[in-house]
Amino acid sequence: MERGDRDRRRDIPRTDVVLADPRLVTATSVLGRATVKSAVAMAQDRARHGEIPPEAVADTAVASLPRQATTLTPVINATGVVLHTNLGRAALSASAVAALGAAAGHTDVEFDLATGNRARRGRGTLDALAAAVPDAGAVHVVNNGAAALVLAATALAAGREIVVSRGELIEIGDGFRLPDLLQSTGARLREVGTTNRTALSDYEQAIGPDTAFLLKVHPANFVVRGFTSSVPTRDLAALGLPVVVDIGSGLLAPEPLLPDEPDATTALRDGAALVTASGDKLLGGPQAGLLLGRADLVELLRRHPLARALRVDKLTLAGLEATLRGPESPTWQALRREPRELRERAEGMCDRLREHGIAAEAVETVSVVGGGGAPEVEFSSWAVSLDPSLAEPLRTKAVVGRVERGRLLLDLRCVPPERDGDVCAAVREV
Ligand SMILES: *Cc1c(COP(=O)(O)O)cnc(C)c1O
Repeated sequence: MERGDRDRRRDIPRTDVVLADPRLVTATSVLGRATVKSAVAMAQDRARHGEIPPEAVADTAVASLPRQATTLTPVINATGVVLHTNLGRAALSASAVAALGAAAGHTDVEFDLATGNRARRGRGTLDALAAAVPDAGAVHVVNNGAAALVLAATALAAGREIVVSRGELIEIGDGFRLPDLLQSTGARLREVGTTNRTALSDYEQAIGPDTAFLLKVHPANFVVRGFTSSVPTRDLAALGLPVVVDIGSGLLAPEPLLPDEPDATTALRDGAALVTASGDKLLGGPQAGLLLGRADLVELLRRHPLARALRVDKLTLAGLEATLRGPESPTWQALRREPRELRERAEGMCDRLREHGIAAEAVETVSVVGGGGAPEVEFSSWAVSLDPSLAEPLRTKAVVGRVERGRLLLDLRCVPPERDGDVCAAVREV
């Protein structure tokens, strides 16, 4: 070792001395000691290798610290995909976020403050869901849409048969297939019809003493066109067996903006015994699985041992209740944004960027619902069009757009207007 190196090593401040820096003391209270200590160790190491001067160890450690104690990074979704699975599907409303904070500590989730006795878990959330869908005799909430389906299959059909159309045996994403999921419960699938056509008589012929229920699944992420037919819930219900309808996206009532998307109220009025849906698709809430329908069946599901394993936590209950009772969610704000407004924003942002010498152009584009919902529906939208080489550096600033025909498009549909300035600042920085 050369003499200079040895001197430099001697000048590197000791760990306890660096950790006493007030900024690092504060950081320790937010991030924990291990994270801060490893940042200090890394800075000391860099000083040892001569990459930074010994007196810069504390500054370097401070600069390298993460902002939060989670590695999850908030992202600006400029992809134009409203429910982007890789970006966490639905963004929660400010009310739902506040509700998570309120429920985070000790809370009366299962306790009656008036009597001091145990109370029904999540009763406020369940009441809100029941009020939103008066046609449901009872409601229950589990971890996600897949869990809702698994609970229904396990509690109602383990060791028995579920009759389902071949046209509805879908893959929901990341290689997960509904038929595999259902069979994992011990239920047997009795597939009827063909990929493109299934008739009422197909169901009739398949029904036997072992049939537990008829399943109808909304093929949420694809469409079959041409020579097709499927059997409406109303006709299935007339066969006299319980019909379980997986509507997928969680619309509670008909929505004029998405006329082809099934909803819970209509399915129940058409005679569904149970409806299953996700909480973080078109409902715009936290990840959850909704079960709505006949009171006796919901009670059976609720009392099944598996229900305990699929139980949602107090944060989900809080976020879901605030979504159901609160103001319009970011999902619906995004879906309802007018192209005219989006165009004005895109043009304004491009003007600002061009003032800084950045080539930017406002272009018309189309956004989609995403999250495996409304696969055919496109919404006219506007984007800031930039050089595609900016895509990667912008991602490091947590701004995610999409590259299309050799351009980087920042679609503004899912960007809250108050974040336009942040997007422009990120573009200028890169
Ligand atoms: C999304 C979806 C599911 C799965 O719901 P998760 O909440 O993702 O578990 C099941 N069925 C249909 C029709 C869906 O669209």
